[in-house]
Amino acid sequence: MTLSLIVPCYNEEKNVEPLLCACREAFSGLPGGFEMIFVNDGSRDNTWGVLSDLFDRYKDSVSLKLLNFSRNFGKEAAMFAGLKHASGTYTAILDADLQQDPALVANMVDFLEKNPAYDVVAAYQEERIEGRMMSWYKKIFYKLVNRVCEVEFYAGASDFRTMRRSVVDAILKMPEYHRFSKGIFSWVGFETYYMPYVANKRNAGKSAWTFKKLFKYAFEGFLSFTTFPLKIASVLGILSSLGSLIYLLIVVIQKLCFGIEIPGYATVVALILLLGGLQLVILGVIGEYLARVYIEGKHRPIYLLKGYLGNDTEDEAP
Ligand code: UDP
Ligand code: MG
Repeated sequence: MTLSLIVPCYNEEKNVEPLLCACREAFSGLPGGFEMIFVNDGSRDNTWGVLSDLFDRYKDSVSLKLLNFSRNFGKEAAMFAGLKHASGTYTAILDADLQQDPALVANMVDFLEKNPAYDVVAAYQEERIEGRMMSWYKKIFYKLVNRVCEVEFYAGASDFRTMRRSVVDAILKMPEYHRFSKGIFSWVGFETYYMPYVANKRNAGKSAWTFKKLFKYAFEGFLSFTTFPLKIASVLGILSSLGSLIYLLIVVIQKLCFGIEIPGYATVVALILLLGGLQLVILGVIGEYLARVYIEGKHRPIYLLKGYLGNDTEDEAP
């Protein structure tokens, strides 16, 4: 198999068939052939029904693997499941909504064939059609994470990419529960070529991402790849200890040398409130990390299947 195409699907009943047809067109000439791995991520519409129907109709002409999650586990889990089932020399991740032209994947494969020095081709959107607020928020996010995180995040790059087998194997070695693909792709390393592209309009349905979901996702990613917030506690602790030592010295000198009484009531209350607040914030930060350790420690599976359809004999079917 030359190419494995992973397609995470959440409420994409109207998009999966047009996508399948577009892929057939784009990759019919690919030597070695291609396979499509559709992951139904607990859709609330009839995506699985449509996929099963497609399987019956296309199984003789297209190599298909259809995974049905037992509930919505999120796009990150769907991508992980897809990577686990990919068998191609090259593996691409593609959205189901046709925002990303499958013909671009053919270009990516072509690039990797001609440039053995590169292992990944990642597409990024040069221009995004989004609100001022959103682009401002993203700018701040990238500035912040690139300053404190141990990995580099490439602004504008998405999950739309094509990788060599070695990269897929590396990603599969990271079985963490809290997944943040932008960080994972960067953490595993390898030579990445960034290719600009223009996203199409969504074919049908609407985006599953709300501002709240994006914020949570970004927060998750931030905490996954840095322990910087934990260090803030030590720095603040040292600074406030130093500050209080200096203050103590001043008070002692004032008392001994000048006999000034210190009317301290307001200062004491303010300081107690300030330090108490700081301690609570820092406890909260530690709590966030501890909660993640707790969840990871349970070693829960990243996803659960309730159905599988494929041309191959698969022993993962429940
Ligand atoms: N998706 C998914 N699980 C989710 C949300 C989204 O598998 O919980 C899939 C979705 O079907 C699509 C891709 O992830 O194929 C990108 O989602 P979407 O188009 O909603 O995001 P956007 O393009 O707006 O960033
Ligand atoms: Mg989309």
